[in-house]
Amino acid sequence: MTAAFLLFSRNRMALAGGVILFIVLLLALAVPLLPLADPDVTNTANRFRPPFSDGALLGTDHLGRDLLSRLLWGTRLSLAVGFAAATIAATIGAAIGVVAGFYGGRLDNIIMRGVDMLMAFPYILLALAIVAALGPGLLNALIAVAAVNVPFFARNIRGITVGLAHKEFVDAARLSGLSRPQIILTEILPNVLPVIVIAMSTTIGWMILETAGLSFLGLGSQPPQADLGSMLGEARAALISHPHTSVVPGVMILIIVMSINLLGDGIRDALDPRLKSGALSRPMAATRVKREGPVPEPTLDGILTLEGLKTEFHVGTRRLRAVGGVSLAVRPGECLGIIGESGSGKSVTALSVTGLVASPPGVITGGAVRYRGEDLIGAPYERLRAVRGGEIAYIFQDPLATLHPLYRVGDQLVEAIQAHQNLGRKEASAKAVELLRDVRIPNPERRIANYPHEMSGGMRQRVGIAMALANDPEVIIADEPTTALDVTVQAQILSLLDDLRRSRDLAIVFITHDFGVVAQLCDRVAVMYAGKVVEEGPTRSVLEAPRHPYTARLIACVPELGGGRRRLEAIPGLPPPVDRLPDGCAFADRCAKVRPVCREGDIPLAPQGDRAVRCLFPEEHPSREAAE
Ligand code: ADP
Ligand code: MG
Repeated sequence: MTAAFLLFSRNRMALAGGVILFIVLLLALAVPLLPLADPDVTNTANRFRPPFSDGALLGTDHLGRDLLSRLLWGTRLSLAVGFAAATIAATIGAAIGVVAGFYGGRLDNIIMRGVDMLMAFPYILLALAIVAALGPGLLNALIAVAAVNVPFFARNIRGITVGLAHKEFVDAARLSGLSRPQIILTEILPNVLPVIVIAMSTTIGWMILETAGLSFLGLGSQPPQADLGSMLGEARAALISHPHTSVVPGVMILIIVMSINLLGDGIRDALDPRLKSGALSRPMAATRVKREGPVPEPTLDGILTLEGLKTEFHVGTRRLRAVGGVSLAVRPGECLGIIGESGSGKSVTALSVTGLVASPPGVITGGAVRYRGEDLIGAPYERLRAVRGGEIAYIFQDPLATLHPLYRVGDQLVEAIQAHQNLGRKEASAKAVELLRDVRIPNPERRIANYPHEMSGGMRQRVGIAMALANDPEVIIADEPTTALDVTVQAQILSLLDDLRRSRDLAIVFITHDFGVVAQLCDRVAVMYAGKVVEEGPTRSVLEAPRHPYTARLIACVPELGGGRRRLEAIPGLPPPVDRLPDGCAFADRCAKVRPVCREGDIPLAPQGDRAVRCLFPEEHPSREAAE
């Protein structure tokens, strides 16, 4: 909620609308207390007095009534009717929508066809017909306006409810034995409430206008009672000779509707869950780069090298240091593993390579990423676009989320191929079949016509890999590609990646949180903690003799098949939040061997034998060292 409020308060227009509406509301509420003339007392001797005349600040109308007083009383009435109509329409409409959407089936059909019938009539005509049937009068106008808006709410809310009705959390509520009305109240309603508020805030302005329209036609408020619409209607005859009589209520309608709409838009932007994640601020095509130091000299050797890469998220005044100076290198035909707990900055490191971190809030604040010696940080967008999916390709964790659900996998492969290669449709299709065969999908000619949901998780991930291979990349960055798969499928995918790397001389950066996977596939491994590499070296020796206490604890967490009974050591505590990293070692608070010096100043990643370790008191392995 506070996040929504922050987002809202940064929207100047919405804030202005809110302030204006607040003033108008305050005035409307205070009308009975203000020293105003009686709005309904006529005085024909004083007809059409201009604004700023004695005793009538806004002048008088055709019956000599005080316009200021009528305006304020009229505003009060119009606002009350508008809000009442919106509340009634939203309540009834949402109730209909939730019931129809949740129960579904025949009930849904009957209700929604009824709603469709209401929607088939032009809006204002329907309102007119209702008022004609009920008789003129403000209350009947209110009913008419509310009634014609019910279908809008019902349709909207039904759509949302249908989407929610079979979500896992609703099924879970069913399993826990809640009755359907209880589920509606506790599970569905809280989820549709923001949508109702949004729909209301954007339609109140409309409803005030519609009520004013009915009053303007003489079907709403009846003389002498003033509302904004009837004031306009009565002023119509004197529009040319005494324009102030229509300008006064007209301007008020404009102010009210404008302020409500601005406020409504602001509320929608702040509450809409789809916009909350920062989508409102439209991410840039490539991550913003603001290097705070010199570009590091190339010292590492490899086809892809990261040198002192720093990526931060600037959220408000907070700086989340997700990646704090990572240096890595991978050579052709080599597989480099990156391992670490969730949140240690593995994905952000991988995405920074080709500027895929969303900006805002992401900013690359330092370091270099060199592909064949060319620095990609701050490279022109066109260059990055050519590299992405071309020379450097990605494989992500969840292929169901990265494949488009409505296109056949073959078409998606063709699209990936044509994005980088100037091939005709037929050649691209042939290549797509070839790719599916390469990733060992049986029957590729038939499989290219499948939709993603028609494939199993393992098959989909193979398609993901095929897509990464589409443009013969030199480097593949795989971000937890097997985490969503079961172990047997995982083993197949790993052996496939291993074969591909050997046959195509691919450099693979393989991100995972599973040491078993690292052991199977990777030549070298880098262990990340709180945005930094804490240990890096050949996989075998890191696994057999971890030097950093964190690595040692991570390995101790892994159960071993056939290894007999032993205590599995969970690491106590949590990693530090990346916007409040401590001085010195980030692991200090969870380390059994911590000493005061560990908390003073930066600890460098120091070379030790065949690897590099960021620790002042690394673990010792006497037997192993003796053997060396
Ligand atoms: P993982 O190692 O699990 O892949 P990530 O690289 O995704 O971790 O995240 C590293 C850190 O960056 C986490 O602390 C996360 O909270 C933060 N982070 C990631 N994306 C964003 C974002 N869009 N805005 C703010 N913080 C983010
Ligand atoms: Mg991740």
